[in-house]
Amino acid sequence: MDVTASPLSPRRKTRQIAVGSVKVGGDAPISVQSMTTTKTADVEGTLQQIYALAGEGADIVRCTCNEVAAAEGLAQIVPRSPVPIVADIHFHVEMALAALEAGVQGLRLNPGNLRKPEEIKLVASEARDRGVPIRIGVNAGSLHPDIYERFGGATPEALVESARLELAYFEEVDFHDVKISVKASSVATMIAAYRLASETFDHPLHLGVTEAGPLPGGLLKGTAGIATLLAEGIGDTLRYSLTADPVEEARAGRTLLEVLGLRERKGLDLIACPSCGRAEVDVIKIANEAQDALSALNLPIQVAVMGCVVNGPGEARHADLGIAAGKKRGHLFIKGQIVRVVKEDEMVEALVDEAKKIVAEGVEARLAARDRGAEAEAEADRAMLLDDRGADVNHARERIEKIRRRAEG
Ligand code: SF4
Repeated sequence: MDVTASPLSPRRKTRQIAVGSVKVGGDAPISVQSMTTTKTADVEGTLQQIYALAGEGADIVRCTCNEVAAAEGLAQIVPRSPVPIVADIHFHVEMALAALEAGVQGLRLNPGNLRKPEEIKLVASEARDRGVPIRIGVNAGSLHPDIYERFGGATPEALVESARLELAYFEEVDFHDVKISVKASSVATMIAAYRLASETFDHPLHLGVTEAGPLPGGLLKGTAGIATLLAEGIGDTLRYSLTADPVEEARAGRTLLEVLGLRERKGLDLIACPSCGRAEVDVIKIANEAQDALSALNLPIQVAVMGCVVNGPGEARHADLGIAAGKKRGHLFIKGQIVRVVKEDEMVEALVDEAKKIVAEGVEARLAARDRGAEAEAEADRAMLLDDRGADVNHARERIEKIRRRAEG
């Protein structure tokens, strides 16, 4: 897939920074971030979580640096981490300096609670000398009280103003390796704030809906905000803030980029019809079984589970592989072409088997190996079903007759 040829709005040009080995902004791929929930002083536990996050698609991981033990932990975590580490700083300038000393590849400062200009400039100077970027992480819930008062609340303009003031301190000490976030828990506020930030700054933007909450609502809020902006070409890196295992955040971020065509799909994409009265089988059950079986293999393939043989193969003809359920039989199809007819209780097994073969041999080879009689069998099934369904399933003729008789008195 050519991820540069997205039909979404063209990406807004931002300057590029480097968070360790990960470039952010400019023409760099949009990166996914998440944050550990372990105590950073727990080096092994934190590294375990970082590996899990990286495995789910996180490109950058943030860890809190809230005490000396956390900074000491970071000194051990950074060299063993598979991805760059950003230290999250609130209130304590000493923790920012300690995190830099620990070798982190990025800092996140919250302008709402690290307020003294001389301290902000001290951190920026130190980061500048070490070549470490900083995220100005404005948060509607912890906006500087003066700004809150001046704007009459955490408005989009207030969030952007907070970032602008912080940036001005950075510029005073000639520090420019900056990315910016203007997060709010209100999706509408967040969208407006990022739109304004995008017009105001040329620095990379880190997208997120803060405190989005548990699944599934948190996922919806995060997606509503982040996807809207990405579709407008706004955003260079993102984080879902979910009240859940952080691997859900990384998974959500990666999946969002994949479904928007902004990141190449590495794993399974299972599509399934929502089912309807035409379905001859329990589509939800089969889709879940197929998802479980295929996810475990993590094959880079798009698989469709469709509830009926009449519409299924056609509607999912773009899928690499699919199954359409008929009466007691399923039609296995590759790119819309029927390759095999299988028994109902063998549908999931057949899907898994064929998925492995497609990944190993390729679509063309598997189409060439198709069962030549399958299409004719499938056609007979479809004809039979259409006949069943097209026939008088609602006893329509009888009803119409009765209606007419009543009408005639
Ligand atoms: S594929 Fe068939 S069963 Fe599934 S929603 Fe479409 S018509 Fe209904």
